[in-house]
Amino acid sequence: MSERTSQSASFDAIVVGSGLGGLTAGALYARTGTRVLLLERNKSFGGAATTYHRGALTVEASLHETTHPDAPGDPKHAVFAALGLEDDIELVPVGSFQEVRCPLIGSPFVLPHGLDAVGKALSSRFPDNARAIRNFLRQVERTLRLGEFGEHDLVWRLAHAGELPLDAWALIRDIGASLSDVFERYFGANEAIKFALCPNLPYYADDPENFWWLGYAMAQSGYLRGGGYYIKGGSQVLSDRLAGIIREEGGQTLTGAEATGILIGPDGSAAGVRYRTGDGAEDIAHAPVIFANAAPHVVTGMLPADRREDFLAPFKDRKPSISLISATLGLNRKPSELGLTSYSTMLIPDWMTRFADYRDSAALFAEMPGERMPAACVVDYDRIDSGLAMDGVYPVNIVCPDRFTNWAGLDDPAYHARKGAWLDALIARLESEWPGFASAVVEKTMATARTLHDYLNTPEGAVYGFALEPPKGAPKGPPLNVQTSVDGLWLASAFAGFGGFTGAMGAGAAAARAALKHRKSAVGSSIDH
Ligand SMILES: Cc1cc2nc3c(=O)[nH]c(=O)nc-3n(C[C@H](O)[C@H](O)[C@H](O)COP(=O)(O)OP(=O)(O)OC[C@H]3O[C@@H](n4cnc5c(N)ncnc54)[C@H](O)[C@@H]3O)c2cc1C
Repeated sequence: MSERTSQSASFDAIVVGSGLGGLTAGALYARTGTRVLLLERNKSFGGAATTYHRGALTVEASLHETTHPDAPGDPKHAVFAALGLEDDIELVPVGSFQEVRCPLIGSPFVLPHGLDAVGKALSSRFPDNARAIRNFLRQVERTLRLGEFGEHDLVWRLAHAGELPLDAWALIRDIGASLSDVFERYFGANEAIKFALCPNLPYYADDPENFWWLGYAMAQSGYLRGGGYYIKGGSQVLSDRLAGIIREEGGQTLTGAEATGILIGPDGSAAGVRYRTGDGAEDIAHAPVIFANAAPHVVTGMLPADRREDFLAPFKDRKPSISLISATLGLNRKPSELGLTSYSTMLIPDWMTRFADYRDSAALFAEMPGERMPAACVVDYDRIDSGLAMDGVYPVNIVCPDRFTNWAGLDDPAYHARKGAWLDALIARLESEWPGFASAVVEKTMATARTLHDYLNTPEGAVYGFALEPPKGAPKGPPLNVQTSVDGLWLASAFAGFGGFTGAMGAGAAAARAALKHRKSAVGSSIDH
């Protein structure tokens, strides 16, 4: 239910949007003894990190896997530690990283976790390429080691100092490379290995030729090294806990409250937010710090006309990331009884013979279902202690790469007809893989890029912020940048750098740190004078 701000309409900070980036920034800032107002236009907190019920079915809107916060270099670590989340959030290991069912590879291939185990599994399936696989995994390790150098103790650093030049070379050589460039160097035309190593490409992008190698190395290596984890009870548990921290610290959290304007003070810096509640009434709240979790394109429209161009300048040439189809099915039988053997299984259709065919897979939803089925990742939440099964209904989620343009120009009846046809086609695809599957489905629902665009208010329904494309020329700035052209207005979302739970929380943490540093220096300078 939407409300208005209570007590005084002055806060220390206002968060626009309750995706994980906004929640993290708001909770961390609140813990420094400040009053924070959180505004969310939807009916629940979390943005993509949400869980809801449809009849007896629990729908996890996004999370399949995230890395453990204790993994080396994981930005979630500092957030969990600062907010004591280890006590409230139970992370359940998902087992092997992913099973891949791909005609090019042969029988189902299980990609384990742990770089040694990954190397062994790949080499035993592709013995002729064992050396290339070893060299590739070494390059991944070298690329990461440089970034994590400062996190190790002195003994480790001294022991590895001699390798620094080689690590630096691994990083510099491929700083502008795409995933395809690096895969090509190690594996040439062996497309099967590429599918086996990165079956989950649609978690990041749909075009390996335009997906930045370093984005892959950083994100995928976390999973390959330490495995994936699921939040017991669903991603809503994390979102609600973060919103709860804001309230515990004296702040206020509103759903059904859509920000419509950013107020600028006489000194030109951020001064507050205008927002609309569910009953259509407008309200104003004041604060010197604003964390923008809403996408930069949305925030641009909230600024006074003369501030828009400068604000948008850093983003105007950047493409939004991919979007996804997400279908959730409720089964009246345990999926394992139907033959599903892994938590996460990637189904690659036989027409996909090149790794770059993911591009064409994402385009399929532009038409009614035909002969070609898309690449689809199938997650069986009953395989782990997810806490999602209810009243004997077992949720299975299917994710496929999708694009907003696939659904453009359709009126509502045409949109729903195509969406329904695709949901049935995906169920039929799973029936062909696991006979008996279709008759076990008792609930079904599906989100498209259009659904995600409407729900998240992101350009083109992007779920990972901006596309991580290889930089053209020397990188123009750090990959994570929360600063904006408006003093006091900070980005706190996947659009600040990287997407996913880790990227969004990392951006939120960076935004809170930057705002705090700015506040301290402002207090310091007013004391100085
Ligand atoms: C189907 C699916 C599967 C995924 N799987 C994984 C996975 O397995 N692992 C992983 O790490 N990541 C996964 N992700 C990606 C991950 O969920 C997102 O990258 C991340 O949660 C984005 O967080 P964010 O902070 O950028 O905000 P978002 O989640 O994009 O939320 C933005 C919020 O801002 C609100 N908002 C916008 N405008 C306004 C306004 N004017 N006023 C008030 N509120 C506003 C929106 O309503 C929304 O709640 C998946 C995503 C999807 C959709």
